Amino acid sequence: MIGCAACGRLGVAPLCTSCTGTLTPGRDVVTATGLVIRSGLLHRDAARRLVHNLKYRGIEGAVPALAPAMAARVAPHTPALVPVPRASLRRVRFGIDPARRLAAAVARLTGTEVVDALRPGLWWPRHATRPPEARDEPRFRVVAGVPPGSVLVDDVVTTGSTLLAAARATGVPALSGLVATAPGRLALQAWRPLGRLQTGETAPTVVHP
Ligand SMILES: [Zn+2]
Repeated sequence: MIGCAACGRLGVAPLCTSCTGTLTPGRDVVTATGLVIRSGLLHRDAARRLVHNLKYRGIEGAVPALAPAMAARVAPHTPALVPVPRASLRRVRFGIDPARRLAAAVARLTGTEVVDALRPGLWWPRHATRPPEARDEPRFRVVAGVPPGSVLVDDVVTTGSTLLAAARATGVPALSGLVATAPGRLALQAWRPLGRLQTGETAPTVVHP
């Protein structure tokens, strides 16, 4: 039976009317190093459940529910979408790589090419559940050329450190990030002391309310 990818209500896919009614457009944030991160939706209510269901329950119906809001944030003539891959052991454990699935769906909606240029390290700690001192920056290998102006795609932004690490790994300037969901203003202010950032960087700040 096909149902709502957020609440499971049967017969309505990918999202039921009441879950759709809770979706709130996302905001843009920018790091001090100039990495702009755009989000399709605020990380709350049904959007939050969709990301959880996709990441940890492998509910693929969450992809068509999340992708349109992301596609709306892709600028015209974007040269490529570059998924930020999930750490290998997590991909095995949960059976899905959310960023790759989302990037493919956004590519179909926008006509943008996907360049699968990044390979993950074996594992890195989940930022959201670790104290700052326990966080390790993820590592990526680059296996294909990334066109300047490409957009890095991930499921959710927490501290911004994963997207920053991916952007640094490419060595290509002027990349931006696109995520399915990001916290709102209050949550962003709350992360300010939490981010594990390099010298000279500060936590992301809201640029568009
Ligand atoms: Zn629902």
